[in-house]
Amino acid sequence: MPRKTTSPYVVVRDSRIHSTGVFAKKFIPEGTRIIEYVGERITKAESDRRADIPLNRHKKDAAHGAVYIFQLNKRYDVDGAVSYNTARFLNHSCDPDCETDIIRGHIWIIALRDIEKGEELTYSYGYDFEDYQEHKCCCGSKRCVGYILAEEHWPKLKRALARKKKTRKKIVSKESRKEPIRHATHHD
Ligand SMILES: [Zn+2]
Repeated sequence: MPRKTTSPYVVVRDSRIHSTGVFAKKFIPEGTRIIEYVGERITKAESDRRADIPLNRHKKDAAHGAVYIFQLNKRYDVDGAVSYNTARFLNHSCDPDCETDIIRGHIWIIALRDIEKGEELTYSYGYDFEDYQEHKCCCGSKRCVGYILAEEHWPKLKRALARKKKTRKKIVSKESRKEPIRHATHHD
């Protein structure tokens, strides 16, 4: 088995966002290649097959539904669900301090800005809109939209949430218009 990936920049510990996180061990300047996202290189067909398994399980038990598959290129993906991939612990944030970039066939976690020692390292998972309700976000940033979702889908999300709110309001106002319940009184 390959050795666990390490980086002089990171330390892994408990996270407020979600279970385990990756944190800056020291100051990281903007643009730094912090750590490589490694794993097993698999074909798209294999990737589809694997992606289905945890998603189905996710519906029953959210704690065991993580998918770590990363798109590498048109033909291959990288399945990062391996113990030697330290970068799999990076959490999603709606206001991330890192991004991912593929450089000569390697997936890198790169600092989007200067990062202070002790800050949690995050990047946008870039999830699709489909099934967004199943991926709640607890990143705690001011920009948090409540779900793990690619920023390009945020306007769509806002519309969907506004529609939901409206329906809820309608139901509530209907109920408040109801006649007060009259308790039967008996005079014997
Ligand atoms: Zn968030």
